[in-house]
Amino acid sequence: MLDAVVVGAGPNGLTAAVELARRGFSVALFEAEKTVGGGARTEELTLPGFRHDPCSAAHPLGVNSPAFRAMPLQRYGLRWAQPELPMAHPFPDGTAAVLSRSVAETAASFGPRDAGTYRRMIEPLLARWDTLMQDFMSLPLSALPRDPVTLARFGLTGLPPATWLMRRFRDERAPALFSGLVAHTIAPLSGLATSAIGLVFALAGHARGWPLARGGSQSISDALAAYLADLGGAIHTDYEVKRLDDLPPARAYIFDTSPTALARIAGLGRYYDRFRYGPSVFKIDYALDGPVPWTAKEARSAGTVQVGPYRCDIGKALRAASVEDRAPEVPFLITVQPSVVDPTRAPAGKHTFWAYGHVPNGWDGDLTDAIERQLERFAPGFRDLVLARATAGPPQLAVRNANYVGGDIASGSVGGLQLLLRPKLSLSPYTTPRPAVFICSSSTPPGPGVHGMSGHNAAKAVWKRLRAS
Ligand SMILES: Cc1cc2nc3c(=O)[nH]c(=O)nc-3n(C[C@H](O)[C@H](O)[C@H](O)COP(=O)(O)OP(=O)(O)OC[C@H]3O[C@@H](n4cnc5c(N)ncnc54)[C@H](O)[C@@H]3O)c2cc1C
Repeated sequence: MLDAVVVGAGPNGLTAAVELARRGFSVALFEAEKTVGGGARTEELTLPGFRHDPCSAAHPLGVNSPAFRAMPLQRYGLRWAQPELPMAHPFPDGTAAVLSRSVAETAASFGPRDAGTYRRMIEPLLARWDTLMQDFMSLPLSALPRDPVTLARFGLTGLPPATWLMRRFRDERAPALFSGLVAHTIAPLSGLATSAIGLVFALAGHARGWPLARGGSQSISDALAAYLADLGGAIHTDYEVKRLDDLPPARAYIFDTSPTALARIAGLGRYYDRFRYGPSVFKIDYALDGPVPWTAKEARSAGTVQVGPYRCDIGKALRAASVEDRAPEVPFLITVQPSVVDPTRAPAGKHTFWAYGHVPNGWDGDLTDAIERQLERFAPGFRDLVLARATAGPPQLAVRNANYVGGDIASGSVGGLQLLLRPKLSLSPYTTPRPAVFICSSSTPPGPGVHGMSGHNAAKAVWKRLRAS
């Protein structure tokens, strides 16, 4: 009898398995795909020598993750590659707002009327960032927060909708960049606690940057898997779990899957019926003949570039995909350019680049033209550089990973209370009605992103129960 079986080798499943194995529990992990990684993998999607991250590429949450930071992942090959600028947000006049490691440089890029407001908002929280991150990523709390005062202060600023927080600014540049940050989790700007999303991404960037993983996001997954193997954990790939009977006997089963799949596999009936899935994205991975010719010079040295440009454009694009059930005419783009910082991603002189825009859940159209028109506005000549492209809309994303139901890359809408309280209104979101069955995917707090904290928090619930029984 094993102590624990984990289903799904995404960052959360791998983290849950490692956390249990390093505390002496026997663990086996089962993954449906041929390789581990889930949303943190790397493949030659276009041409030989071009190594693309089909899902995650930029890792502000990974580099700041309390769970990853407590593991010796460097020993297993993980190297963070820091771009000169974590993120740039260009405007039509050829200038850009930036998220830099330096708060002062970031504030200055917003213009003199908003620089002070930004500094006053960020600096007190940044001074207590590590404990704040730990407390925030452990919500709902299973123990007293390490720093209740800072957490409360963060809550006061973060709980209101982003649209409220942005009223503090007088010009358009800061709200434009901030709206883009909120859009990384595909949250509507008027949603509860969306200010917290923007703040976390900004604070993470100031604290430790928005690095990429050298060699590709796969190296995060491979490092976790190698560490797990060293700790004695067994990994079985190409093994889709359809029923609990497919798994060996164990004292605990932890699912890095969607709640819908878990309910089906573990016979939980309608337990998660009220869980809602959110919008999707249309993503393009490019092999390019040269670097993206951004007009704004800041964008050329940034790892991530947000193409909005303004708050109202971003709000409109998000609303179209999440409320109006249609693809936006002018999409808001999140783009990442790995080879700017990591030469292993493309042959010499060539580049890899990805961009996605938001579309409704299950949408089966083609957003390529709208995405490229938007890129041409901010990087004229972009299309001439394209050597090859690989596109993936909601149906392709859902086939690639069963957790992306209808192409929802956040594995569950972050609208309303479901941003904080997922997959159900519960103070113990990782447990289920079956005492031996747990869930650890990004459908649980703290939600989407490669940080492993859902896996860490779920493992904590598991080891408490295993030790008590
Ligand atoms: C296009 C895109 C871009 C993104 N960009 C970023 C980014 O830049 N930065 C960032 O931090 N995050 C990003 N994300 C989000 C991030 O990838 C996810 O939030 C994260 O991977 C979630 O981790 P997870 O472990 O919960 O689930 P996943 O990574 O989805 O892993 C779940 C695993 O479980 C397996 N599985 C599911 N069902 C079964 C079953 N029945 N049997 C066996 N195995 C099963 C799946 O095959 C998969 O390997 C992006 C995602 C996408 C799709």
